[in-house]
Amino acid sequence: MGRRRKKVEKIIKKTLPEFYLCPKCGKNTMKATLNRKEGKASVVCGNCGLKSILKITNQMEEIDAYNRFIDSYYTGG
Ligand SMILES: [Zn+2]
Repeated sequence: MGRRRKKVEKIIKKTLPEFYLCPKCGKNTMKATLNRKEGKASVVCGNCGLKSILKITNQMEEIDAYNRFIDSYYTGG
């Protein structure tokens, strides 16, 4: 009986900060930082100072946090 375990050993260390497009100022200066302990992510624009804190799940990466932020930015939520 082969019981399959979910492998969770894929730990990708990202050292390079990734910057995303800011919906407010239009510059590529947004950075998402995950705080997995608290289940939150902060998305901050280094140019105009736009900032948002959002909830994340374990599966979410920086890009997902950013996408969620963009969603809520445009829907006003
Ligand atoms: Zn900005």
